[in-house]
Amino acid sequence: MSSFKLKVLLTGAAACGKTSLVQRFIKNHFQANYKLTVGVDILTKDVEFQPGEVATLSIWDIGGQQRFEFIRSTFYKGAAGTLLVFDLTREQTYTETKKWLTEIRQFAGENIPFVLVGNKADLLEDVGRVIDSDEARKFAEDEGSIYIETSAKTGNHVDDAFTELTRRIINSRTK
Ligand code: GDP
Ligand code: MG
Repeated sequence: MSSFKLKVLLTGAAACGKTSLVQRFIKNHFQANYKLTVGVDILTKDVEFQPGEVATLSIWDIGGQQRFEFIRSTFYKGAAGTLLVFDLTREQTYTETKKWLTEIRQFAGENIPFVLVGNKADLLEDVGRVIDSDEARKFAEDEGSIYIETSAKTGNHVDDAFTELTRRIINSRTK
């Protein structure tokens, strides 16, 4: 039994791959056709964040939250950390992460740990680079975090993103 139970959130613009990341992480599969998340999905998974140390994540994946104040306050309440996701092929979604971070800190606390995630890395070969990775890294580091590029499609670095977030949450608590 794990001694840590952590509520973690998936945040970021619509269609950047939040649902796909959690599906990849938990079920190790990918679905190409778009399915809008309705309401909130809560999925649970144990993460070994360091050898022999396990935390149980309850991962909250929400759709259309900005329209519903009530759902939003429930969503953020008691959150231990968040993956703040954008779509590497759409600049607008990167710009929006700044607004997201303001909202996350407002509702979940100034010091909530997060990991900045640039998703859909598999598309960069075709699309070309839209978001400079040094610039994204600098933004994350200036905000006290780190930057990881993932692909929910190939699975690349998806586990790393969740494990790194878990580590940062635990470290922030035991300091
Ligand atoms: P959400 O609205 O943030 O939950 O985004 P979804 O997970 O629903 O994904 C939106 C669309 O992007 C879907 O069509 C997914 O199949 C696609 N998608 C998500 N992640 C990736 C990825 O890493 N690579 C590619 N090529 N497509 C992705
Ligand atoms: Mg979704």
